[in-house]
Amino acid sequence: MFKQPVTKLLLCILIVLLGALVALQKSFPTFPGDYPRTAPPIEYNCAYFDERVEIRLAKGSKLGRLIVFAYDGNNKFIGLLKPVENGAVVVRRGDYADFTACVEGSEIRDVIFLKKMDRYDKKIDMFDALTGARNNNLRYGVQRCLYPICTRCVEACKSVISNSDIPIVMTVKPEGEVLPVFSKGKCPRCGKCFTFCPTGSIVNSSETQHTEGQ
Ligand code: SF4
Ligand code: SF4
Repeated sequence: MFKQPVTKLLLCILIVLLGALVALQKSFPTFPGDYPRTAPPIEYNCAYFDERVEIRLAKGSKLGRLIVFAYDGNNKFIGLLKPVENGAVVVRRGDYADFTACVEGSEIRDVIFLKKMDRYDKKIDMFDALTGARNNNLRYGVQRCLYPICTRCVEACKSVISNSDIPIVMTVKPEGEVLPVFSKGKCPRCGKCFTFCPTGSIVNSSETQHTEGQ
């Protein structure tokens, strides 16, 4: 007499749970692909001259452009997009930064783009920023990822994950460069981020050999 309502109740709970599971699967599709991972950092050497800094990439690099960055004394991240020519990037006095951002720990925020179509809102000489960082033992270098000028991976991911809690977080590494970091538990392995990335900063986790983008 007592058992029958309990059984009915348990059956109802089971049906509700199954329904919720099906709904959850529909809202969080999974794909048969691989997880994304970030490519290893660029190997390079810097040579300082009176009016320029030459950043020579390791032999065999196929990168076509990259971001040169330097930090100031207030932990401000200053960056410039530069083409790679003959295996090197040259920053000359009078090359002005494209953007600045605030960095707190591994978080990057408050990005300000300095360059408009035909003018700069504010001119920050990248040569001075690099030499200032070197002279004051602050972080400087180059990064393969073109963030914040490029945000393709984040936008691609947002087209798959409907809420704002996407598995990609742009993160500042201890050496100062910005790279995407992935949360595997939230990633349904759609593969869009590494398909859209123009620089090879994100690769398929099953790739053993890294291929650099242009
Ligand atoms: S785009 Fe987002 S969901 Fe798709 S593989 Fe990359 S991190 Fe995962
Ligand atoms: S798509 Fe590639 S280059 Fe662009 S922000 Fe993402 S990792 Fe960086």
